[in-house]
Amino acid sequence: MPKMDFIQVKVKRQANPRLKPYWEEYRVKYRPYMNIITVLQELRKNPHTFDNRPSSVIAWEASCLEEVCGTCTMVINGRVRQACSALVDQLGESITIEPMTKFPVVRDLVVDRSVIFRSLKRLKTWVPVDGTHALGPGPKMGPDEALERYEMSKCIACGCCMEVCPQINERSEFVGAAAINQVRLFNSHPTGKVIERERLKALMEKGGIEDCGNAQNCVKACPKEIPLVTSIADVNRQMTLNLLDLLKK
Ligand code: SF4
Repeated sequence: MPKMDFIQVKVKRQANPRLKPYWEEYRVKYRPYMNIITVLQELRKNPHTFDNRPSSVIAWEASCLEEVCGTCTMVINGRVRQACSALVDQLGESITIEPMTKFPVVRDLVVDRSVIFRSLKRLKTWVPVDGTHALGPGPKMGPDEALERYEMSKCIACGCCMEVCPQINERSEFVGAAAINQVRLFNSHPTGKVIERERLKALMEKGGIEDCGNAQNCVKACPKEIPLVTSIADVNRQMTLNLLDLLKK
């Protein structure tokens, strides 16, 4: 554990989406086992810069505090990750905190990640159910298949995979690895399969799977260790088979 009395914290601030961002520096008293959420809580209690000028309260989001909700995702010392699992003892005494760059900033460290949910809607990543009447027990699934699908289902929609993807920028409409992985998840579900062609068709449109440049940064950045590259390859294969099938008709 490093010996330090104070942590130097540099935060990228932005009052609203129309104003320019700027950096502000703070000093926080060190305590063992602090995470970045604790640091931000300390700054909220005493919003003063390192040279004791009054500052405004930093806006940030957090909910579960156990790397499950994804809301506290930000760029810490240059790496996109969840603030709740970023431990000061592993980061050192000088820490920079920035909002993610691939999503519009709402204020300070809060970004608007709704593009992820729009992509999931566009790709119909759900199991379609007909009506509200009892449908009986669902189809059975073997343990191996369930385990494979469980790995794909761990996505917390944090956006880390999109932050590190060079194909995602202000000019692109690429849906990203997380949404493609969800297509694989629901196309492998016995009931979800019913609309697999609709999902594959949506992925053939602008911003679909063709925009993947195979940089493979997504799989390294995913905090849930989802096999994203395997998912993209699998969905690519499904699309080829689907096309061949359509050509036969
Ligand atoms: Fe986050 Fe991984 Fe889901 Fe991407 S696939 S949004 S990195 S949990």
